[in-house]
Amino acid sequence: MSPGSFLWRTYGFLRALGTGTFIFGSGRKCPLCGGEFRRFLPFGSPSRPESQCPGCGSRERQRLLWLYIEEEGLLESSENVLHFSPDRALEAKLHEYAKEDGLDYCTTDLSDDGTDVVADIREMPFEESSFSLVICSHVLEHVPDDVEAMEEVYRILEPGGEAVFMVPIHGQETFEDIGVEDRNERKKIFGHPEHVRICGEDYFERFKEAGFSVDVFQYAKEFSEEEIERFGLRVHGKDPEFEYIISCSKE
Ligand SMILES: [Zn+2]
Repeated sequence: MSPGSFLWRTYGFLRALGTGTFIFGSGRKCPLCGGEFRRFLPFGSPSRPESQCPGCGSRERQRLLWLYIEEEGLLESSENVLHFSPDRALEAKLHEYAKEDGLDYCTTDLSDDGTDVVADIREMPFEESSFSLVICSHVLEHVPDDVEAMEEVYRILEPGGEAVFMVPIHGQETFEDIGVEDRNERKKIFGHPEHVRICGEDYFERFKEAGFSVDVFQYAKEFSEEEIERFGLRVHGKDPEFEYIISCSKE
């Protein structure tokens, strides 16, 4: 079920009837939209339980990323925020924040999908040191020249600023083959028609190559088991079960 589909609109109608409580309960709470629900919805292929918020469509990693941004006060310490290929739920939250608190918030993507600036992450139309916070989640696994992209993010980041990256991590060693261009082949090899690599734990080193000081952690572990379940932060059926936040700073 995708936002915009008939089923999705039906859920919207039921939500309206239930005044914010998804049919039966309040065991789950979405940190992004504030909605309380009995359960998060299954999502993905293969389908994983407790993934998608019935209210705003957010999934595990978007809720985790928002909690990190909010709990660590990243918006309070930022004036200019650049968000790559924004997920709708997080984008809506940041727009709301920008409106209320006068934050300068800019979205960008390679394709013209309603973002503020259409640009290639490897060559962006921004001055050096333009942003104090950059958010770039699940983008780099699509980019062949990824270190070039990281260097470009480094260039546009203010000294003292933070670039928050997320990439899907599987195993220890990164496997890539940028020569594979066929979508079906990519799906077979990398598990997704647009991915050019499978990032392993050694991938974090590349951010250092690009010039960043790097701190990597599974932020969900900052929360109690009860909170992990309530906010839907565990990625069921995946290894690792918690996504990594890659916090990169420029000195
Ligand atoms: Zn939500």
